[in-house]
Amino acid sequence: MSAKPIVFQKISDMRRAVAQWRAAGETVALIPTMGALHAGHVSLLEASRGKARRAIVSIFVNPTQFAPDEDFSAYPRRLEADLARLAEAGCDGCFAPDASEMYPAGFSTKVIPGGPALAGLEDRFRTDHFAGVAQVVAKLLNQAQADCAFFGEKDFQQLAVIRRMAADLDIPTKIFGVPTMREADGLAMSSRNAYLSPEERARAATLSRVLRASAEKIAAGAPVGEVMAQGAREIEAAGFALDYFEARHAESLAPAASRADGAIRLLVAARLGRTRLIDNWAVK
Ligand code: AMP
Repeated sequence: MSAKPIVFQKISDMRRAVAQWRAAGETVALIPTMGALHAGHVSLLEASRGKARRAIVSIFVNPTQFAPDEDFSAYPRRLEADLARLAEAGCDGCFAPDASEMYPAGFSTKVIPGGPALAGLEDRFRTDHFAGVAQVVAKLLNQAQADCAFFGEKDFQQLAVIRRMAADLDIPTKIFGVPTMREADGLAMSSRNAYLSPEERARAATLSRVLRASAEKIAAGAPVGEVMAQGAREIEAAGFALDYFEARHAESLAPAASRADGAIRLLVAARLGRTRLIDNWAVK
């Protein structure tokens, strides 16, 4: 399939197209992204195909989810290449608003997520990050009025925050999570992988290797605490500065000490040079 997406810069233009599609009896999916699209983003688009007739990918590098010392200005922006990728994948619309369309003068409403946003994972290292994410995703869901929206399990805590927020605010768009797409060596695809030097890139797959091995050991009955301590040592030995490597309840994100507590998800965040990577793995 190859269809060039219609590019919407204005909320009103996107809404008009969505209203027309829905009036024709067609369902619509929204896939929010920050651009620099890779195969992981395309997998969200593909996942939408079974659920909705039309797909809109939004591309907006949201300033409110970056702390002042983070990579907002350095974040890769390549709209033309992204549009070519969407045309190749087949996509009906691309919503690419300016910051002034999203946050016009006088904008002053905050969305403060609780529950999974306070799990003590990303929130411990990125204060206000999920407030920015919840704010922009609430806006995008309201703007698009789509039937369903797709988010990656790659950002596992973010997915939980968005599910909670959509339920709490009675947002009718159905939220779907999509499994993580990986490079051949297991590294989770991410726009931030472009920051890695060749030498760092070669070491980066340690994270997924340790996640997978740890998940397998826990599944085989090894004590969670010991497995996690050993995994943390391996990640640090590979030259990462570890923010966290944790076993959590897959739904509540509460600390999980044993498989008897329910399904477990292992989550990691670690820095390699100046690049911060996150990943997670299910204990099956
Ligand atoms: P981002 O552009 O990084 O904000 O990501 C946009 C969406 O794509 C989010 O829902 C991410 O969780 C998802 N995503 C990012 N990387 C991957 C990946 N490797 N596999 C699947 N989904 C991903």
